[in-house]
Amino acid sequence: MIPYGHQNINQDDIDSVVNVLKSDYLTQGPQVPLFESSIATLTQARFAVASSSASAMLHVACLALGVSKGDRVWTSSITFVSSANCALHCGAEIDFVDVDISTANMCPKALELKLQLAEQGGTLPKVIIPVHMAGHSCNMEAIGRLARQYNIKVIEDAAHGIGGYYQGRAIGCCQYSDITVFSFHPVKIITTAEGGVATTNDAELAKRMRLFSSHGITKEIEQLVRPDEGDWYYEQQHLGLNYRMTDLHAALGNSQVHRIGDFIERRHQLVARYQQLFVAMNLKVVTPLSDSVSAYHLLIIQLPDCVDRKFVFNRMREMGVCVHVHYFPVHLQPYFMDLGFKAGDFPNAEHYYQHCLTLPLFPDLTFEQQDEIVTSLKGLV
Ligand SMILES: *Cc1c(COP(=O)(O)O)cnc(C)c1O
Repeated sequence: MIPYGHQNINQDDIDSVVNVLKSDYLTQGPQVPLFESSIATLTQARFAVASSSASAMLHVACLALGVSKGDRVWTSSITFVSSANCALHCGAEIDFVDVDISTANMCPKALELKLQLAEQGGTLPKVIIPVHMAGHSCNMEAIGRLARQYNIKVIEDAAHGIGGYYQGRAIGCCQYSDITVFSFHPVKIITTAEGGVATTNDAELAKRMRLFSSHGITKEIEQLVRPDEGDWYYEQQHLGLNYRMTDLHAALGNSQVHRIGDFIERRHQLVARYQQLFVAMNLKVVTPLSDSVSAYHLLIIQLPDCVDRKFVFNRMREMGVCVHVHYFPVHLQPYFMDLGFKAGDFPNAEHYYQHCLTLPLFPDLTFEQQDEIVTSLKGLV
């Protein structure tokens, strides 16, 4: 079976993790701060805070921005469920903005109209969470302008996006946002097994994210209510969680982060080759905005109306190609329908979902496998 995504682990990665196992620290040693500074350097953000997953980091990012009961958070419906769940974990209400049908990213026009209505109704969100689907940047300039106009905070869900660029700057630089969150799950661009990092240019937000992901506890003497208690003393000032990254995970990240350029170059090479092989085929590839460079986490095609996606999906899997679907619209998940969402609420998201299919894309995919994938697909569309 050709998987749709797969990590690439080399001897350096293995050595990096094994060295930590032989060291004094399995967690909270030197590897985590090193990984954080690598990500800050890569993205050109001032601060980076590591966590046990992107889902955890999205939760912490919402907590750091003060999201709580009575607040509203908006994200896009074409995403993994964590982009929405982070708001619910804070007791806030979740809502969605429809996507642009050609990119599956949050549509700035839909956002603008929804904001105008929300302003009239007094239901403006506190935070919006645009998602860079497949690694393709959202139109952050337009989203950022609207956020400023309405005084809304922005968290970029860049789980797919590390190593990508928008307007010549790295995704994660937070030019148009308050916080950007990356995932290092094995199918993503680089991996720490489980892991996530948030970047920000705001020192206070970085401090708060660190605090919330470590029990709400601090030992920083200048922050203590009781600075004279003694060296053993730590202080809980907020209700936090244990969402810390371990040194074992960070060690893998520290090795992987050096390889990101190679990974992305290979992904681009494979995407260009897919594009050539698709010529004369009746399908659309979901492509990035012209002023961006995608990390190409996923290669997503849109099948024409006349093609039965489920049939194509099943036949491809029977032929040994593990195609996938990203994503079932979150607002139609039973849990979210119980909150009141229904079919028809976000028509572009639903239309996109009906036609999308993810083809295998990962650095170790060979040209031969790629030919096999496209040949299998050709017989079906
Ligand atoms: C993978 C993913 C997440 C969650 O990442 P984890 O590190 O697995 O928690 C969040 N949002 C999107 C869009 C993702 O693809």
